[in-house]
Amino acid sequence: MKQRTFDLGDNEPGPRDPQVQEGPRVRVLLPVPALGVLDYGVPKHLAGEFEPGAVVEVPLAGRTATGVVWDSAEDGGPAESGKKLPYAKLRAVEAVLDLPPMRRDLRRFIDWVSAYTLSAPGPVLRMSLPASAALQAVPVKRHYRTTGATPEGVRMTPARDAVLKVLSDGKPRMAPEIAALAGVSDSVVRSLEKTGLVQGMDISVDLPYPQPDTSLEGPTLSGEQSAAARAIRDKVWEGGFAPFLLDGITGSGKTEVYFEGLAEALKTKGAQVLVLVPEIALTSQWLDRFEARFGVAPVVWHSEVGQAERRRAWRAVASGEARVVVGARSALFLPFKHLAFITVDEEHDPSFKQEEGVMYHARDMAIVRAKLAECPIVLASATPSLETLVNADEGRFEKLVLRERHGNAVLPEMRAIDMRSEPPDAGTWLSPILVREIEAALAAGEQTMLFLNRRGYAPLTLCRTCGFRIECPSCSAWLVEHRFRRELQCHHCGHVEPIPGACPECKSEESLVACGPGVERLFEEVNHRFPTARTSVMTSDTMMSPSATAQMVGQIASGHLDIVIGTQIVTKGYHFPNLTLVGVVDADLGLRGGDLRAGERTYQQMVQVAGRAGRAEKPGRVFLQSYEPEHPVVQALLSGDGDAFMAAEKEARARHHMPPFGRLVGVILSGPDMKDVLDTGRMLAAKAPIEHGVAVVGPAPAPMARVRGHHRFRMLVHTKKEVRVQKLIYEWLMAVKPKKGVRIKVDIDPYSFM
Ligand code: ADP
Ligand code: ZN
Ligand code: ZN
Repeated sequence: MKQRTFDLGDNEPGPRDPQVQEGPRVRVLLPVPALGVLDYGVPKHLAGEFEPGAVVEVPLAGRTATGVVWDSAEDGGPAESGKKLPYAKLRAVEAVLDLPPMRRDLRRFIDWVSAYTLSAPGPVLRMSLPASAALQAVPVKRHYRTTGATPEGVRMTPARDAVLKVLSDGKPRMAPEIAALAGVSDSVVRSLEKTGLVQGMDISVDLPYPQPDTSLEGPTLSGEQSAAARAIRDKVWEGGFAPFLLDGITGSGKTEVYFEGLAEALKTKGAQVLVLVPEIALTSQWLDRFEARFGVAPVVWHSEVGQAERRRAWRAVASGEARVVVGARSALFLPFKHLAFITVDEEHDPSFKQEEGVMYHARDMAIVRAKLAECPIVLASATPSLETLVNADEGRFEKLVLRERHGNAVLPEMRAIDMRSEPPDAGTWLSPILVREIEAALAAGEQTMLFLNRRGYAPLTLCRTCGFRIECPSCSAWLVEHRFRRELQCHHCGHVEPIPGACPECKSEESLVACGPGVERLFEEVNHRFPTARTSVMTSDTMMSPSATAQMVGQIASGHLDIVIGTQIVTKGYHFPNLTLVGVVDADLGLRGGDLRAGERTYQQMVQVAGRAGRAEKPGRVFLQSYEPEHPVVQALLSGDGDAFMAAEKEARARHHMPPFGRLVGVILSGPDMKDVLDTGRMLAAKAPIEHGVAVVGPAPAPMARVRGHHRFRMLVHTKKEVRVQKLIYEWLMAVKPKKGVRIKVDIDPYSFM
């Protein structure tokens, strides 16, 4: 690939020449924390070539860094920070990379996310740039084909004849392949290039993506499905920002409906669409459905996509060749050339909130992206978040509702099992009622899913003799027993150790006992009770890769398993026609130690897992094991009146000015020295803004008071909705100098309070 490099030379004065007072300069944003936008000098005769968005290489602290030419403050870029270096002190841009310039809507998006989350713009830009290798030339491979010419005076040999014969179909091939087919050595092929009989050409190793076929017809939609699809299609056709909430019960055909919006967008030449899904929902089932509808696979983007494929995808998105991208939250930062439609599927899913690095909520930022790209966006869910429901109620989003399941499928019947009156036998976790239901399902040849959102064998290991509990050496968390792997693991830092034979404290032998159930322990119980049933465990420990996931999902769908035991991974949009029984082993689990959204989240999770049952002709049954069946969440599930439950949640949040009726900002302080962390927190508390409609609490030890050996304290800022929290927080934090080694992280709109 060509790359234009500049030599300032002796005859053209430029930056770093003390004689020159002023000259052309550009602002360059680098994907590096804490640097912001830096000024660089430009050779005079090239000044006009640096349009904003150009990807450039610049010198930075003795090495070469890749950055993007950024807009001036007048053009919408961030304000100039600090003092402007004199021109003579600037260093010059080294090269412009031969890539499509980053477009204005993405540059504004990066600025927006940076300002909103109070992150430096550098780390936000980094989410939009692939690793530097991907920015360099695409590797090519030498191919050969015949020229068809018959130059005079070329000496023909049997070996050369054989090569020409292989190439007679006109298809370019690489030398080793030709040599193998022709039974000659590679050098014969190369020697032919010099004669003019054969032509060499470099072909990119990145194959072009096949284009979706928009002439294929989708299924015949029901009345309510077509009404929703038409509303979306019309807005896609018109263009412009238009946000929708697609609120439809599980199995109502939301995917089919937003596929219609996709199909409409793809009819416009060069238009691109983005579908965001929770990473673990990116399954082969979704991809197969897409392929059935559009004839080709979409471009997939998530954390497991390898380097070479990332390069290929990133470049194809930038060039416009990739028409449909389905990805996890980070796909939001891809450099689309012509983004025409966005869907966020399972918009309520907590995994859209990124909890490290730049702490952003992909659903909220997707709305901003759509606004800047001026395109419609659909938020789809069977259990919309309260934030989204309020946006729809207040008229900011157009609400489309699907009330019926497709075909004859009906929503499963839900029942609570009161564990106080129907307790399981000691050391077991399934109540007699649920056991009988599983027996019945097995006898009928139908499938059962047991849901327990706890990985491993047991959440706690305790010594019977002295009461010692095995904790992580560097976190305030118990180690979780993983019996399949014969180890104890910390789910916060990943620390693992073998299961000890004796108590580490009192040294008693055979005194350690596992407390509470995890999916592995449930597996043990199920195997013991139903030894002939084919049972499997579905968690992130057993489904480490997309292919392992695909394999297990395929086994369930094709009826090769009778009982599936899983964590939240099983709640994600799978379609299992023969699954009729769902047992929720601990419906109270998500409610304990609840934060702001515990009720909402538990409700959503239960509805999603229940939605796996009875998706085809056979009706489904769902049993919720609970020690508190009178809890509003359980009652809402039983009555099926989710609207009333969410209305009550909304009312409670409004009363307390909680999001979305007020604002929260988490401030997390951490560091190796507890006193320094606490002192910094106290200094912050002393300078806390005193303003109407603003309350600051803390510092208090975080529920996860220690992670990876670092002590953690939290502060929480709670404001009225109209307060500009970013400005407030920024000015507050700038007024305090943290103690050495103390990190301060700001979490705007926090979802985790740990
Ligand atoms: P949701 O996304 O709302 O859970 P899906 O789009 O997955 O629902 O639809 C559930 C099932 O019903 C899928 O197998 C889907 O292909 C099928 N389906 C939905 N609508 C139709 C339709 N109009 N015609 C044929 N099949 C449909
Ligand atoms: Zn002990
Ligand atoms: Zn740990």
